[in-house]
Amino acid sequence: MERIVVVIGTRPEAIKLCPLINELKRRNRWDVRVMSTGQHRAMLDSALSAFDVTPDFDLGVMRRGQTLSDLGTRILDGAAALFRAKKPSLVVVQGDTASAFFAALAAFYQGIPVAHVEAGLRTYRMDSPFPEELHRRAIALLAKYHFAPTEDARRNLLNEGVPHSSVIVTGNTVVDALRYTLTEKKVDLPPLLSSDARVLLFTAHRRESQGECLGGMLRALRDVVEAHEDVVALVPVHRNPAVRAETLDVLKGAPRIRLIEPPSFVTFHHLLSKAFLVLTDSGGIQEEAVALGVPTLVMRDHTERAEGIRAGVLRLVGTNEKNIRNTANRLLSQNSLEYSAMKQPSDVFGDGYASVSIADFLETVI
Ligand code: UDP
Repeated sequence: MERIVVVIGTRPEAIKLCPLINELKRRNRWDVRVMSTGQHRAMLDSALSAFDVTPDFDLGVMRRGQTLSDLGTRILDGAAALFRAKKPSLVVVQGDTASAFFAALAAFYQGIPVAHVEAGLRTYRMDSPFPEELHRRAIALLAKYHFAPTEDARRNLLNEGVPHSSVIVTGNTVVDALRYTLTEKKVDLPPLLSSDARVLLFTAHRRESQGECLGGMLRALRDVVEAHEDVVALVPVHRNPAVRAETLDVLKGAPRIRLIEPPSFVTFHHLLSKAFLVLTDSGGIQEEAVALGVPTLVMRDHTERAEGIRAGVLRLVGTNEKNIRNTANRLLSQNSLEYSAMKQPSDVFGDGYASVSIADFLETVI
């Protein structure tokens, strides 16, 4: 049996790759192995266990306070040794993390074909998202198979000279994950969600947001909630220490704002499906919100998910405190037509069967 190694490093990779791992295993055609780099240990494990996926190999690369170069070196060395020993016929990576890039590079150096899931997302700005824009562009240079979630992503790859025959539009596997959690998994939601209150779901943790930008986002949230008595906010506080300190500093004790530990993605998907409005700087949450039709303010200056803006569910508000506050206040005003127009689910990011399309394609090449 040909061996496929699937690489996972962070929470979003686990969420987006587990549906594919399970689909590949279900076909009993390949020896499918999962390599975790351990980049986000705690948040990664809860995502994996929800899909009953256990890593076969764990590089354990995380060290307190390490630089991106340290992290990259550890992943490159660890992945290279593992690939030398296990001799996979294919390495699958997802997205744009350091785990995806350095594992893909290790495979490339050994002549092992690389398949890239969620290929072709671009802002064409090296500083935003940093360093992810570099990672995904570099993976496109070395991958053999490119699974683009959308036509936009496919066009980006073709414009960069990737051969037509190696780009396959599949939808995003995050919609597969969402389909699974919302139909197969039940969760106990906080009582807050059964009340009449309108729930704002807020997440912010990106590297580019940290510092003054994050402070502004948090203050905007505090003011918006204060201005609407029927609004409560749920804020999963990311484990990054700088993000955590700033979040607590601005929001601790603020009325009707609940700070919670990051819930597992199963709970998160259910929370998201019940939210009235989302404020986020996340990538994956943009895709999930569009699939569910939950109006979302994207607190970034650029997004690589323009499909969701065109679908009308996402609104790019940037990182300016006043702009975030004014837009949220407008959407929360009673009977806002602007809000109703945003509340439309869309399948621009996929129909929930991306993993099946990817596995079908892989059957033709390996
Ligand atoms: N998520 C989660 N718990 C949380 C916040 C997010 O499980 O408290 C999930 C969410 O459903 C989405 C993914 O994590 O699928 C997004 O991760 P993140 O924002 O860390 O990364 P990005 O998508 O921006 O790379």
